[in-house]
Amino acid sequence: MKIAIIGAGLTGLRAANELKEYAKVRVFEKNEIGGLLSSFCNGYYIEKYYHHLFRKDSELLETIKRFGLNSKLVWKTVKVGFAINGSIYSLSTPIDILRYPHMSFRDKLDLAIFTIRSRKLEYENFDDIPVISALKDRFGDRLLEKFFMPMLKAKFGDNADKVSFAWLLARVAIRSNRRLRGEEIGYLRHGFHQLIEKMAENLEIVHANCEIKREGKWSVNGEDFDAVIFTGPIPELGELAFKFRLPRIKYQSSVCALASLKNSISDIYWINVEKATFGAIIEHTNFMPFEDYGENLVYLASYSTPEGWLFNQADSETAKLFLRDLKRFNVREGDVRWIRIFKAKYSSPIYETGFLKKITPYRIHDGFYIAGMTSKPNYPERSMNGSLKAGREVAECLKKDFGFE
Ligand SMILES: Cc1cc2nc3c(=O)[nH]c(=O)nc-3n(C[C@H](O)[C@H](O)[C@H](O)COP(=O)(O)OP(=O)(O)OC[C@H]3O[C@@H](n4cnc5c(N)ncnc54)[C@H](O)[C@@H]3O)c2cc1C
Repeated sequence: MKIAIIGAGLTGLRAANELKEYAKVRVFEKNEIGGLLSSFCNGYYIEKYYHHLFRKDSELLETIKRFGLNSKLVWKTVKVGFAINGSIYSLSTPIDILRYPHMSFRDKLDLAIFTIRSRKLEYENFDDIPVISALKDRFGDRLLEKFFMPMLKAKFGDNADKVSFAWLLARVAIRSNRRLRGEEIGYLRHGFHQLIEKMAENLEIVHANCEIKREGKWSVNGEDFDAVIFTGPIPELGELAFKFRLPRIKYQSSVCALASLKNSISDIYWINVEKATFGAIIEHTNFMPFEDYGENLVYLASYSTPEGWLFNQADSETAKLFLRDLKRFNVREGDVRWIRIFKAKYSSPIYETGFLKKITPYRIHDGFYIAGMTSKPNYPERSMNGSLKAGREVAECLKKDFGFE
């Protein structure tokens, strides 16, 4: 029995590990092992895109343990904040929030009640409701314009008005793991690349861009397989997506800069930024110790569409724009030791209203499976945890179909 797995991201690696004792498994990867969780090596390893985990990520925590990395797992309470007109405000503690000048006491109270209530709601019941009208109904225009819109615009750009309220509720619930001093998040000290390496050990991984065909049997780049699991973005399937009438899923792209700065910007880990080319400043060395890297590492995070100007612009131009907007935070060009731009064309589905109906089932056709960011465990927000769960569940589905258990 031969199984081809397309994609060596978390979904593909997890599925391969679940199936390797039952069949001959070959993983195909056209870019880097780790997919969106791949790292950049600069004497140390650091993810190309900022990553952290949460206490509720049971599938990820279990995988970390299974691959012997529990001793590397660290939890930290980090500060979060907001930047308006170049001024940075910490919104980490109840006192910070009370002191924040750009919102009335009434708005703060409404937001606090909303956050607490969001945790108890069933997201799926809100899948058909557009986020903007839902927020308007609850808060009126004030909080929408001042608080939610900058966040939605930074994340979804022109697609912000199409996003479902389910996405926002999930996001608020995930990010409301608040302690008195800030938000508690976890990380694998010295990088998630350690997990990727362990998961890739003892797997047969071929570096190739794959074309899947059905010619009697399933074939991948001309070689026959009994089953194929595709873990990449749906548009990459080309004709097959059309043949199996897969829903048209819109994706957004990530444009992310990683920079080494002579000085730290603040003591805050995550700052949402208003009206800049990047929507957030994520200071990694306010999360993990400076000594692990020997330099101040800062991500500047931005989202685009695959067709958008930001995604298609030359890296040097993007770096220039990001550096221009960094000046608001007293960072001059001479303060930047180096800057690298990383781009991911398909970094997340856009969770539009009605997305529930677009979730892809694992079994698409006899011997052909899809798992990853469009699978149920990644609704209504994709995550490392969701992809690991999708990888395990697609393997279970295949095992059942082929009578492995
Ligand atoms: C900016 C950013 C920040 C994030 N932060 C967090 C975070 O803090 N916490 C969290 O839990 N999650 C975070 N995530 C999400 C997390 O990284 C993803 O959900 C997860 O890594 C997706 O894994 P995957 O295997 O499903 O998909 P991918 O990582 O996209 O893997 C799919 C792989 O398939 C390959 N592929 C596609 N087509 C082909 C083909 N035809 N032939 C061969 N190979 C192919 C691709 O190259 C890719 O490597 C973040 C993502 C981004 C972009």
